[in-house]
Amino acid sequence: MKRMEEMILKEGKILPGGVLKVGSFLNQQVDTAFMKEIGEEIADLYKEDGVTKILTIESSGIPIAISAGFAMGVPVVYAKKNKSSNVSGDVYTTPVKSFTHGDTNNVVVAKEFLKPEEKILIVDDFLAHGSALTGLISIVEESGAALAGCVAAIEKGFQMGGDRLRASGYRVDSLAIVDEMTDDGITFREQ
Ligand code: 5GP
Repeated sequence: MKRMEEMILKEGKILPGGVLKVGSFLNQQVDTAFMKEIGEEIADLYKEDGVTKILTIESSGIPIAISAGFAMGVPVVYAKKNKSSNVSGDVYTTPVKSFTHGDTNNVVVAKEFLKPEEKILIVDDFLAHGSALTGLISIVEESGAALAGCVAAIEKGFQMGGDRLRASGYRVDSLAIVDEMTDDGITFREQ
């Protein structure tokens, strides 16, 4: 998505540790007009796939998932980060290592919101090492629902999570893939 690349170049800030900050339009402040375009782009990518529900993870995946949900006319479910390992039996749960904080949280989704007859699209803001998407995939697989694919607004290709998931056979679409980011600039993968 050309406009995602332009927004990253205009607004993105590179932080130590391979972190890209996009707080002015995606993460903290949300550019709602651009968010609408993101949702429409995701809907267009999956228009032939019979998606019945979108799954994301709190908190920064939620605006993107909601926008895509509006565009596709489907509900959105978000996995909650639950610090306690003491969770009841009516939820799916899996550990996810936080890229930004380094700690591991159990993420949980109530079983009533993921049924075997559904077709799920997983959406998140960033794809780095792939821990968040891998956790969400394992929840979908445990539920027996079909997985249409995964979408990240921004993939950092140099952290390899996306390519590992593709090599395992999952469909992964990213609206922009950053292959390199240094003080000299940002290089995007041709797609
Ligand atoms: P992963 O699990 O793929 O290693 O990391 C993805 C998760 O970490 C996303 O849910 C996202 O919230 C966060 N994340 C990873 N890299 C970045 C980054 O460069 N910037 C921001 N703002 N969040 C990131």
